[in-house]
Amino acid sequence: MGALLEVSGVSVSFDGFKAINNLSFSIDTGELRAVIGPNGAGKTTFMDIVTGKTRPDSGKVEWGRPGRDLLRLSESQIARLGIGRKFQRPTVFVTQTVQDNLLMALKKDRDPLSALFYRADAVDLGKVEELAVEIGLQEHLPRLAGELSHGQKQWLEIGMLLAQDPQLLLVDEPAAGMTPAEREHTTDLLKRAAQTRAVVVVEHDMEFVRRLGCKVTVLHEGAVLAEGSLDAVTSNQDVIDVYLGR
Ligand code: ADP
Repeated sequence: MGALLEVSGVSVSFDGFKAINNLSFSIDTGELRAVIGPNGAGKTTFMDIVTGKTRPDSGKVEWGRPGRDLLRLSESQIARLGIGRKFQRPTVFVTQTVQDNLLMALKKDRDPLSALFYRADAVDLGKVEELAVEIGLQEHLPRLAGELSHGQKQWLEIGMLLAQDPQLLLVDEPAAGMTPAEREHTTDLLKRAAQTRAVVVVEHDMEFVRRLGCKVTVLHEGAVLAEGSLDAVTSNQDVIDVYLGR
């Protein structure tokens, strides 16, 4: 029986350069995982492979039990299966309210124009309220998203992804540019989100990774260099050498 996501022996080259080199990775529901590694380690390419944006030259990417071959599916089919990705910069509709942003996401309709003509029913509004509570923005539902702080916009975007009911969430540097209080809220939010889903956080900030308190996968030159608790991987000599550039 495989995990929720099982990546086995995946490689991809760009113009002869091996960006991902025989990478294996797996994660299950209920798990929060931090993926770290120096610039160029392959973190973005790894997420591109999982979401179907980049096709590997070899290896397997399987989803669920029994394992379904993700390499046969398009990017949008993969998204519909339940893999959500959050890029670093928040992309919320700044001229719409928090409530309407969440409603649009719930309807899988990211077009603000058609949302103007959409009448939400009580079930939708209940779900929006639930999402707002989960991301800690219940007090801000009537506000324009453009009035939110940077951190609040990031939480709103996470809420918009959760609205689509993902089983796996890939999040790129969620704490970048946040205040200490916002970072704490983000930690809680991600931990909570991972209770019923799998969440992968790509992160540079070690202090934030420490707060997450989860298993860490260290990538280097497109492969897994070390995996384990933050303390275990940061005392691993190979990891120390890579981070000190030896
Ligand atoms: P990270 O996100 O860890 O910084 P990336 O996945 O962005 O690393 O990149 C891994 C390596 O692959 C880098 O050396 C990068 O220059 C190279 N790379 C990534 N995408 C492309 C591409 N489309 N064409 C050529 N090289 C690429």
